[in-house]
Amino acid sequence: ATMPPLLSAIANAGRHGVLVKSAVVMERLGQVDTVALDKTGTLTEGAPQVTAVRPLPGADRDEESLLTWAAAAEHPSEHPLARAIVAAARARGLFLPAAEEFAASPGTGVRATVGATRIDVGAPARLLPAGHPAAAEIGALVTELEDGGQTAVLVLRDGAPAGVLGIADRLRPGAAATVAALRTLTGRAPMLVTGDNPRAAARLATEVGITDVRAGLLPQDKVGAVREQETAGRRVLVVGDGVNDAPALAAAHTGIAMGRAGSDLALETADAVIVRDELATVPAVITLSRAARRLVT
Ligand code: ADP
Ligand code: MG
Repeated sequence: ATMPPLLSAIANAGRHGVLVKSAVVMERLGQVDTVALDKTGTLTEGAPQVTAVRPLPGADRDEESLLTWAAAAEHPSEHPLARAIVAAARARGLFLPAAEEFAASPGTGVRATVGATRIDVGAPARLLPAGHPAAAEIGALVTELEDGGQTAVLVLRDGAPAGVLGIADRLRPGAAATVAALRTLTGRAPMLVTGDNPRAAARLATEVGITDVRAGLLPQDKVGAVREQETAGRRVLVVGDGVNDAPALAAAHTGIAMGRAGSDLALETADAVIVRDELATVPAVITLSRAARRLVT
């Protein structure tokens, strides 16, 4: 017997490096008319590097202790920013004390106890309440890093700001071409949905040709962005890699996870997984789906 078109398309997608979980998903991929792309780990390679270590003035506040505290707290996390911080500490040969009571807040950061010290690492806007005495000083540091395209991460020790890390990730090769291909296929430019700060998001969006930018989003805000589009009659494809993308991957008409560095939750929740780590496979599977659906009667 000849294979039904949708099954052939699944096999074909597999050869392109995309694991499509069912024939229903294979069919739905061709129906999407709006694409929402995550930033970190999706449009970027997800292998960020620490590019700045800025302790705030004060006792015991040198670069190495700032990195040590941050890396110790981030050690249990699978977030790309966490891996960058741990790698930077290792590269300097720093000893990392064990973290206890680790907790991650997707889209915000992590908290852990290291020795007798509570450490928070994460988005400055979420960790530092407005009106904090150090807000202006930290704000200036953060703006400087973000204007340079870095993601600024704040480190608190027992609630007091200890310093800021700058982390930068490379755009995936072909990201702009993929955005252009998706625009052509769907008739609409993709949108960017990210938990990262608006400055870094805007800078990257300009580089890839995206104008609809939603930044500073928590996981449920990503769901909100999807629902808003679907309420307007759109069929949304979400592409993401993180724990923070899982609710949006589930809520969307179709969800695709980046496989190589993606979190387990994203891989389980998504309808399809990009195994070969190439963003260009997204427009490719949409095209495959449409071709298969033309053969299904
Ligand atoms: P994106 O949506 O671009 O993939 P995330 O939602 O994963 O980004 O993260 C959004 C922001 O939350 C990050 O830019 C960072 O400020 C903060 N954040 C999330 N997880 C961590 C972590 N493990 N360590 C430090 N900061 C984090
Ligand atoms: Mg991500």
